[in-house]
Amino acid sequence: MGFSNARAAVLRTFGAELEIESFEVVDPGPGAVVVEVKGGGVCGTDVHLRDGHLAMPRPVVLGHEGVGVVAALGKGVTGDALGAPLEVGDKVTWASSIACGRCFYCRQEREPTLCEDRSVYGINRRADEPPYLSGSWADFQYLDPGSTIVALPKGVSLEAAIALGCAGPTAVHGVLGFARPQVGATVVIQGSGPVGLAAAMYVRLAGAARIVMIGGPAARLERARGLGVVDVVIDVFDVTDLLGRVAAVVDETPGRRGADVVVEATGVPSAVAEGLEMCRLNAIFLVLGQYTDAGATPINPHLITRKQLKVFGSWGLSGADVVDFVRTLPQLTKRFDLASLVSSYALEDVNRALEDVRAGSVTKAVLSPNG
Ligand SMILES: [Zn+2]
Ligand SMILES: [Zn+2]
Repeated sequence: MGFSNARAAVLRTFGAELEIESFEVVDPGPGAVVVEVKGGGVCGTDVHLRDGHLAMPRPVVLGHEGVGVVAALGKGVTGDALGAPLEVGDKVTWASSIACGRCFYCRQEREPTLCEDRSVYGINRRADEPPYLSGSWADFQYLDPGSTIVALPKGVSLEAAIALGCAGPTAVHGVLGFARPQVGATVVIQGSGPVGLAAAMYVRLAGAARIVMIGGPAARLERARGLGVVDVVIDVFDVTDLLGRVAAVVDETPGRRGADVVVEATGVPSAVAEGLEMCRLNAIFLVLGQYTDAGATPINPHLITRKQLKVFGSWGLSGADVVDFVRTLPQLTKRFDLASLVSSYALEDVNRALEDVRAGSVTKAVLSPNG
């Protein structure tokens, strides 16, 4: 194929800075694809990975969110996940994981996000074995046979497609898969990070009449309102007590009954107890933000019974969610300026990007290895 070696950001030691190393670009075998990475998203999960909060092998080329252009197609690859023809130079994105297809949850429950043996790019793929480049924080990424690869719809930029990162398909899985807000609904989104923002966008597309976002800091809330994603924002730094926050939210709902749907997207355990208080009777409560185990929290289970709540959890995202996400990109980009969420970094600035994500000073950090 004739590519020179590729640079990649590698995690070798938990808690230490990532290093830029050089790897061979392996020609794609049958069914595989090599992409030239144009954008590798940096997500809160990557900070946890770098700090050793999640079990993973090492060394690993990080980066589970990516967009790029097809550089080489292995034998037998003719189309993307939707059957559209795939050629060198096409703009694509891809799912971060490949479910095993054999375990109980893949086969019987048909829930690939619960797969017991998932292969995940940028997380559990070793960088010291071929094909080495199994994360998006690199000049090139090798996508194995079985990867979900989707060509971007015409008119959707690479920047817009990476702007929500894995939060986009995560919101598809939870909001469209479980919460399913009705047209005209009043919906509360707890959390103003990427998952909260993406969840609010899908709630909007689903036809909600009123979206109240409670989160912070103020700049994030204002950005969400400026983009037209939410109608009302409540800053948790302004209203610091639980009862005050609940009252502020309930005041924004019809008849002060509480929300039809509450989506928890904070990752803060105590937010779950608050979310239960914000639900009206017979409401839907989606717990979406607790991706990292941050420990136990007291809740009042009587609220679930008394209000007859439907409480859902939602774990991760599947290849199908990535396909659905890409299919909705034309609608999302028509309503919201996604590309404006992106802050770009050179690959060499990976450690600064991680620090900015940890500090919450950027909405979406994206490494741009190829300019
Ligand atoms: Zn499985
Ligand atoms: Zn992510």
